[in-house]
Amino acid sequence: MLLAATKKNKTGSLNIGVMGGTFDPIHMGHLVTAEEARQQFDLDYVVFVPAGVPPHKEKEAISLPEHRYLMTSLAVMSNPSFFVSRVEIDQEAPTYTIDTVRHFSCGKEPQPEVFFITGADAILEIFTWKDYEELLRLCTFIAVSRPGYSLDHFHETMERTCPEMRHNVHLLEIPALAVSSTFIRERVTLSKTIKYLTPEPVEQYIKKHELYLTDR
Ligand code: NAP
Repeated sequence: MLLAATKKNKTGSLNIGVMGGTFDPIHMGHLVTAEEARQQFDLDYVVFVPAGVPPHKEKEAISLPEHRYLMTSLAVMSNPSFFVSRVEIDQEAPTYTIDTVRHFSCGKEPQPEVFFITGADAILEIFTWKDYEELLRLCTFIAVSRPGYSLDHFHETMERTCPEMRHNVHLLEIPALAVSSTFIRERVTLSKTIKYLTPEPVEQYIKKHELYLTDR
């Protein structure tokens, strides 16, 4: 992965967005989210990190990591500020966000500032993640929500389960996230069109490799 060092924040370090998700498949909502976060949080670039074997999904049927990595690469191809990392998919064992964030936050001084971007529901479970207290110290979280998502629910759950999160979690509502990976998979299974829901090369990849034809 070639990362261009473009601009730096006030402390002279880079602001890196790390977009974590299963991406099965990646869709327009993810791309709009990453671009919105890039602009709002003045990120130098955003690295998409398809999850390897997510620890909470070991028994679920998800597409092969290589398929999800290639679809993500096709989707971000045209954006010079977007990159894709194999850091999680190259590991056979379950992968943890703490290791991914450590991977991106270490390096030359001054250390980059990491913004971890993912779904709000996933972030509400953070207190179950490996080394979550250290994770909260190491990075800022951008919790992304769909239209209709209850902000009250988010804040109440956060206060109840992990109040220390309130210092470094930002909630970002993305109208384009009305589309979801589940919705796309279901449409493919029902032979319905997914045109304009995901970039065309991803749509072609799904067709060519006959992904999502059967119900999970
Ligand atoms: P998920 O359960 O598949 O997704 C939860 C919700 O968030 C879904 O509605 C999903 O919509 C949405 N979402 C997921 N990633 C998103 C993104 N980058 N931008 C916008 N919406 C997103 O969650 P997951 O993908 O497995 O996990 C999310 C991230 O948390 C991954 O990077 C995973 O490795 C990490 N995680 C870490 C631990 C740990 O370290 N122990 C545990 C759990 C999760 P779509 O289906 O449309 O994407």
